[in-house]
Amino acid sequence: MKWKEQLLSLAPYKPGRPIESVKKEYGLEKVVKLASNENPFGTSPKVVTALKSALTSFAIYPDGYATNLRTAVAEFLNINEEQLIFGNGADNLIQIISRAFLMPGKNTVMASPTFSQYKHNAIIDGAEVREIPLLDGEHDLESMVKAIDENTAVVWVCSPNNPTGVYISKENMTAFLNKVPKETLVVIDDAYHDYVVADDFYNAEDFVNEYRNLIVLRTFSKIYGIASLRVGYGIAHQDIIRVLEPAREPFNVNTLGQIAAVAAIDDQEYVVHCRQKNREGMAQFEQFCEEHKLHYFPSQANFILIDFGTSGDEVFQYLLKKGYIVRSGNALGYASSVRVTVGSAEENNGVIHAMKQYLAENASVTK
Ligand SMILES: *Cc1c(COP(=O)(O)O)cnc(C)c1O
Repeated sequence: MKWKEQLLSLAPYKPGRPIESVKKEYGLEKVVKLASNENPFGTSPKVVTALKSALTSFAIYPDGYATNLRTAVAEFLNINEEQLIFGNGADNLIQIISRAFLMPGKNTVMASPTFSQYKHNAIIDGAEVREIPLLDGEHDLESMVKAIDENTAVVWVCSPNNPTGVYISKENMTAFLNKVPKETLVVIDDAYHDYVVADDFYNAEDFVNEYRNLIVLRTFSKIYGIASLRVGYGIAHQDIIRVLEPAREPFNVNTLGQIAAVAAIDDQEYVVHCRQKNREGMAQFEQFCEEHKLHYFPSQANFILIDFGTSGDEVFQYLLKKGYIVRSGNALGYASSVRVTVGSAEENNGVIHAMKQYLAENASVTK
């Protein structure tokens, strides 16, 4: 058959292992998933209440314009409703942008390692991928600018970056936006922005009126705790949104997702609480790394990439048997590391205890 050839070289996305299958395989009663950067405290109780009262009319298509959610997000961000596009998760927006901009003859610039979906979609759409190595976990923005030429359609910037957790300062981001040619779209993937506490971080929505070649991606899957309902959105100048909209499928955000997201954005107390808990949890991991002299990147997200100096796959397997699902850095471009989502204090203590056991049993391997 006449497949796009590049598809044949791709593997499907490997998600973190499901809890139930790990329980079965290792005969464990309790398994904690710290693999996909979900909110360990779950969904806000207000969202659960909103969903319970919403259990009606499943036969009706969702609102294709996400009217109520659009109003809620626009009010929250103090922007115009026409500056928003909604997606079945931010992943869907990455796909829509790729579909709208990328094809053979075009190229796209991104960091490496970074979130896998930029490259994945670019390959399917036949564009050349230009990967610029991170410098100490951080985007090398100068080299990224240098890699741009007249055929560069999209530059992807993930901040804080997945999988390192390192963010870009307002100063550096502004300098970068000033240097990118106006004809090249910049995507700021802001999936973890709600977790950032650094003083010199930016509000990405403040950039979109000044830079008319920019789209900012956000998600309800991380701090808002509704990953299963699949809601993300993009913020841009309305001229960008207008051209992008036809590339979106008509009913891409489901009804329950829309209802949940409206309730979620309304509960900022919950967001503040989760952000605070995340910093406390991060401190537990940083302390563990310091005590054991393990390298880690300072993370402003809700995960930490820890270098064990051995095989990330082996550490992953060890922790799995103890009931902790993390991500091996092997698939993320850091073969000797694991990426651990910051959990509740108890979950963090548990996985740190297991990591200490690993180190004790493998004392001769690690330094
Ligand atoms: C989790 C994540 C996404 C995808 O979020 P969804 O809204 O669940 O599709 C996008 N970008 C980054 C960097 C992420 O870590």
